[in-house]
Amino acid sequence: MIAKKMTGFVENNSAIREMFEEGKRLAKEFGAENVYDFSLGNPNVPAPKAVNDAIKDIIDNEETTFVHGYMSNAGYEDVREDIAASLNRRFEENYSKDNIIMTVGAAGGLNVVFRALLDPGDEVVAFAPYFLEYRAYVSNYDGVLVEVSPNKPEFMPNLKEFEEKLTPRTKCVLINNPNNPTGVVYPESVIKDMISVIEKKSREYGTDIYLISDEPYRELAYEGVKVPYLPHYYANTIVGYSFSKSLSLPGERIGYLTIPGSMKDFETVVSALTIANRILGYVNAPSLMQRAVARAIDSKTDVGYYDRNRRLLRDTLRDIGFEFTEPYGAFYLFVKSPMEDEKQFCSLAKEENIIIVPGSSFACPGYVRLAYCVSYETIESSIPAWKRLMDKIKEGA
Ligand code: PLP
Repeated sequence: MIAKKMTGFVENNSAIREMFEEGKRLAKEFGAENVYDFSLGNPNVPAPKAVNDAIKDIIDNEETTFVHGYMSNAGYEDVREDIAASLNRRFEENYSKDNIIMTVGAAGGLNVVFRALLDPGDEVVAFAPYFLEYRAYVSNYDGVLVEVSPNKPEFMPNLKEFEEKLTPRTKCVLINNPNNPTGVVYPESVIKDMISVIEKKSREYGTDIYLISDEPYRELAYEGVKVPYLPHYYANTIVGYSFSKSLSLPGERIGYLTIPGSMKDFETVVSALTIANRILGYVNAPSLMQRAVARAIDSKTDVGYYDRNRRLLRDTLRDIGFEFTEPYGAFYLFVKSPMEDEKQFCSLAKEENIIIVPGSSFACPGYVRLAYCVSYETIESSIPAWKRLMDKIKEGA
């Protein structure tokens, strides 16, 4: 018999993954070119050549016992130095290897953070809609995810409700900027106001509240939109970064955490995070990938590719009559369901071989998420299907 705590997860297995499997089944039946799969955030842009070149060169020229061996649980020291130097260049910081812990992607990083910070019953506040795995990550350590309701249709954080949701048990505030699933980027003014609320409440309760910034989409911002760097505004910030999207390496499971030296109890927090990386069984982030991303640290994914997709999908859906807030980050479009039940809308879309994910998978029913990290041609060839779908809805399907 499986653990009671697991039964809910087994019964409600990820809808995103389910849609992805459905997309593969439809592709077999109708041919991949006739299926428009917008379900999963799996980048269609190949990893930069520098990454593949680095992997080959490391294998050919570095000592293999070193490359494939164990190292410090926080990661290779030279890799962490290289990442720290890159962050110092970009964000005018003063980091060293001691501020960086290499992780098994952003997901591994968040699990390490919650293992290190949460006592049972501690609360983590997140803004809906959010990446639903957050619920699982928090519950892994018997924490409680506290939700701030979706602030439709702009999806900027509702700071009034946020303030009401902060309690003496609040240990972390978890934000994701640029955002999955909305594509919204929170600007500096919103971040500053959010931090004022955190500071006010932690003073009132006499508690430490950690701001956890989940940033797999940091590099994906369009039209010159700036993504604020949170440690500049609040010392108790842990940034969780990932190379899954920024270098198109989601299957390789590589990312890192940044812990600013000004954080309260810095050394104890870093020790706890490093030990959590070990005792959760990750032991360390994948060794070859650590070395590869360090060498390719200044490489960039083709943001222009995603931007082109973004513009085409945005204009197409707007012309057809769908409603959404224009996304300036990540590679998602969060569209208001033209039918009350968005799951029914997803089923209707599937009849047109369009695979999309219901907003209830992100704690926001009534909307659907489209991942546009697909090929431009997929979006182009999906246009007639979107039109047919809207016609059907207008006819009262
Ligand atoms: N956080 C968000 C908001 C995501 O969208 C994802 C993946 O899609 C993750 C975390 C997990 O990323 P990783 O592949 O780096 O573990």
